[in-house]
Amino acid sequence: MLHFKDSFETGDIRVVRHCIGSFGVNTYLIVCRKTKKAAVVDPGGEVPALTEAIRAEGAEVTHMLFTHAHIDHIYGAEALKAALPDARVAYHAREQIVVDSTPDMCRMFGVPLCRMPAQEMDLEKEPEFSIGALQVRTLLTPGHTPGSVCFYLAEHKICLTGDLLFKGSVGRTDFEGGSGTDLRASLDRILEVLPDDTKILPGHGKYTTMAEEKKGNFYLRVDRWR
Ligand SMILES: [Zn+2]
Ligand SMILES: [Zn+2]
Repeated sequence: MLHFKDSFETGDIRVVRHCIGSFGVNTYLIVCRKTKKAAVVDPGGEVPALTEAIRAEGAEVTHMLFTHAHIDHIYGAEALKAALPDARVAYHAREQIVVDSTPDMCRMFGVPLCRMPAQEMDLEKEPEFSIGALQVRTLLTPGHTPGSVCFYLAEHKICLTGDLLFKGSVGRTDFEGGSGTDLRASLDRILEVLPDDTKILPGHGKYTTMAEEKKGNFYLRVDRWR
C-alpha cells in the first residue's frame, strides 16, 4: 500500500519519498543531479512503484542503504535487489543480529516471510562513501536497534535518521536488542554533530529540522531535563 509520494530538490540533490505499507515507512530515493547516480534508503515495499520512480528520474542506483533491519524497512529489499542487481546492499555489522531475527519478526507481525539480501558493504568498515558527487557519512546511532545508523549529507544539510529521531518523538527501544541508554547517547551524538538547520528525513512521519526538534521534541530538550 503506497500512501503517498513526494519530492524536493536542494542544490545538486533530489529526494523522492514513498510512504509505504501498514507501518507507513518512508523509503527514500536520493539522486545526485550531477551524475544521476542514486541510492535507495530503506526499501519498505511497493517495488514496482519504486522502480518506476527510479526510471522516471533516469537514475542509476549504486547503493541500497539500510538505517536498520526491521521488517518495515527491508520489506521490499529482496525484490528491489532482484530488479537492481548492481546496487550494493549496505548495512552496519552490528545490525546482523536483527537481520538474523527477521523470520521471527515476520511471524510475530503475521506477515509473509521477507529477507535481507546478502550484505555487500559493511557501513562499519566503510562509513564514508559517495552517491555520485554526494558525500555521505554514516553515524552509528544504536538504541532502537544495535546497528541503527543515520546517513548524514553535511554539504546538503540533510540527515536520514531512520527510527532514531522522528518529528516530535524518538524510536522505541523495547524490541530485541533495543537500549534506552544507547538511544540517549545517540541523541546526544546527533545533537553534537548536526547543526540546527539540518533537515531531518525520518524513517516514519513528517520532515523536520534539528532546530524544530530542539524546541519541540521532549527527548531533545536537554536544557530543561538535565
Ligand atoms: Zn525500526
Ligand atoms: Zn520503522
